[in-house]
Amino acid sequence: MKFQIGIDLGGTKTEIAVLNTHGEMVYRQRCPTPSNSYEAILDAMCGLVNAAVSQTGMARPLQIGIGMPGCLDVDSSLVRGSNTQVLNHQPLKKDLEHKLGCEVRLQNDANCLALSEAIDGAGAQGRVVFAAILGTGCGGGVVVDRQLLTGRHAIAGEWGHNPLPWPSVEELQIPPCWCGQTGCLETWLSGIAFAQDHARHTAHHLSAQDIVHAMRQGDEFATQSFQRYVNRLGRALAQVINLIDPDCIVLGGGMSNVQEIYPSIGEEISKYSFGVKATTPVRQAVYGDSSGVRGAAWLCD
Ligand SMILES: [Zn+2]
Repeated sequence: MKFQIGIDLGGTKTEIAVLNTHGEMVYRQRCPTPSNSYEAILDAMCGLVNAAVSQTGMARPLQIGIGMPGCLDVDSSLVRGSNTQVLNHQPLKKDLEHKLGCEVRLQNDANCLALSEAIDGAGAQGRVVFAAILGTGCGGGVVVDRQLLTGRHAIAGEWGHNPLPWPSVEELQIPPCWCGQTGCLETWLSGIAFAQDHARHTAHHLSAQDIVHAMRQGDEFATQSFQRYVNRLGRALAQVINLIDPDCIVLGGGMSNVQEIYPSIGEEISKYSFGVKATTPVRQAVYGDSSGVRGAAWLCD
């Protein structure tokens, strides 16, 4: 039996999983990410791999896949754009390959979600799958025929830093994104952005979860905030459809758990998609929090 090892290197936890050829998770372990030391992160990852090998009895891997926020710069091969700051500008791939004695394949977490869901998750029936993370941040990934589309600069699918399309005058008056631009989708569609929008309209500072709870209790202002959110998500996904017209759209991250999105999103997309009623299925990620680690494992041959 052939096994594939994936690691999800998150800001707070690092998780390893071993999948068999049927995609079944035969081993899983996690540890806190020592986020203040690069060396400690390397050691923690090696420790997880060594434990997985000894506890499953598998042969030492020839490859491992890693999903993480951020990516490798195509020119320098150093990490950039990671919210675990100590990883930025580090030769993570080279250092891990040296320590583990195997090939390391790295992708950002949204690409891992897209790959996981396109191979055997919510997008498994489609040739072209777009997946978006609506969580602390807002990322995206594109899979075509079960292969990631990474692109010339390794930024294919970085939808979260495109601007919100068809903005109202009010929507042009918002704070800049951390990336240096203004109006990015991340400043509208992350969980934090949803809470900030609600606060701007109501002066009530609630978490995204509390706003959803209030909406379910019939709160009028929470309902309006949610309707604005779904309309903006509809605009953002219409733009994806106008560009690549995927067979399926998969949503992951905290906001994807809000079930009220799914019955109404098609109608919102159709207000903006070019000349057609959008029939694209928009589905919640099947594997939830495990999509990252599963997608990382699928990076291996
Ligand atoms: Zn941005």
